[in-house]
Amino acid sequence: MKEAVAGELAAAYHSGIVDEVRANDFQYRAGRLTVHLAREFGFCYGVDRAVDYAYQARRRFPDQNVYLTGEIIHNPHVNDRLRAAGIRFLSESAAPWDSLGPNDVVILPAFGVTVADMARLADQGCTLVDTTCGSVLNVWKNVVRYAQDGFTAVIHGKIKHEETRATASQALKYPQGRFIVVLDRDEAQVVCDYVRSGGSAPAFLARFGDAVSPGFDPDRDLERIGCANQTTMLMSESLEIGEMLRAAMAERYGEADLPRHFRAFDTICSATQERQDAVIALLDTRPLDLMLVVGGYNSSNTCNLARLCADRVLTFHIAEPECLVSGDEIRHRPVGAPSTTVRSEQVSRGWLPTPNPLSVGLTAGASTPNNIVGEVIERLSQYATL
Ligand code: SF4
Repeated sequence: MKEAVAGELAAAYHSGIVDEVRANDFQYRAGRLTVHLAREFGFCYGVDRAVDYAYQARRRFPDQNVYLTGEIIHNPHVNDRLRAAGIRFLSESAAPWDSLGPNDVVILPAFGVTVADMARLADQGCTLVDTTCGSVLNVWKNVVRYAQDGFTAVIHGKIKHEETRATASQALKYPQGRFIVVLDRDEAQVVCDYVRSGGSAPAFLARFGDAVSPGFDPDRDLERIGCANQTTMLMSESLEIGEMLRAAMAERYGEADLPRHFRAFDTICSATQERQDAVIALLDTRPLDLMLVVGGYNSSNTCNLARLCADRVLTFHIAEPECLVSGDEIRHRPVGAPSTTVRSEQVSRGWLPTPNPLSVGLTAGASTPNNIVGEVIERLSQYATL
């Protein structure tokens, strides 16, 4: 079946121009324009596999309803193509979950679903096509181990993101399992302060809202903690948060007793790490006038790539080639807000710098297919060389 869909996938997502750019030392030249493509960009192994499985599922079950629980990955172009192939999205379907049964096929996305959703679909007898990425499963394994051993999982992630909700739910497989989700350094600092000196439990719980497990008691549940991540966070921030928590626990319980109170493991997936490393290398080695970051506005890893770039150079996060409306006008998502925060698309003018020669950096999130990257290069070339 894999061979059967290979041609379909290539036709949908391959780009000849991207192949040429790769072969040309990741550079594209046209007139005054040079595009420097990051050496790691676009579809990761987990997304590749998830999209492949979705196409295979559509073929394998031609006479059955095939559903996705929601977006398979956070890229509008890919999701639209799956809709066009006849796959329905439960998150936007009139068909309620209750009506699903043995004749229905349900594809689980690369970032997984919660334990409760998985159990519900299995109980209803649906055929499940599980595309949960191995890197996500690795995080789950560690969070389950924390729960087994009575450690609270402190998850660096976004509580509204599907992956983080699924990961947090793993902690509740055991009665003593607990979790708390911290979005950033500021929230991690709140946890560290409580670990060091205690404080008002109601104020702490009000601060974190639904980002803690039911019945969370910071006086009890911060005594033994283990770090975990949403796989697509900024690696540097995750490492820093892990170190902040380690230092707070060491101060509270002493270095000698630390292993009884603190655990950590690296859960940023290698694909996310490689894309972040590649964009940093690009920023370090090329003098850029502008950076374009391509990917869904709700894609966590794309938003984080944009954050990295915006610290160093004028950066626009665009979702699709059409965002380059003209040589004067660009549609883009303002950089900085977490991917789970809805930010209106913004229109800016005068986005294309005038120098001759013009040097533009380009990267794409792990859920962006090559054909989109190729079309961005073509549009950019059209406007920059006018
Ligand atoms: S970004 Fe990482 S965890 Fe997510 S699907 Fe890709 S490889 Fe898997």
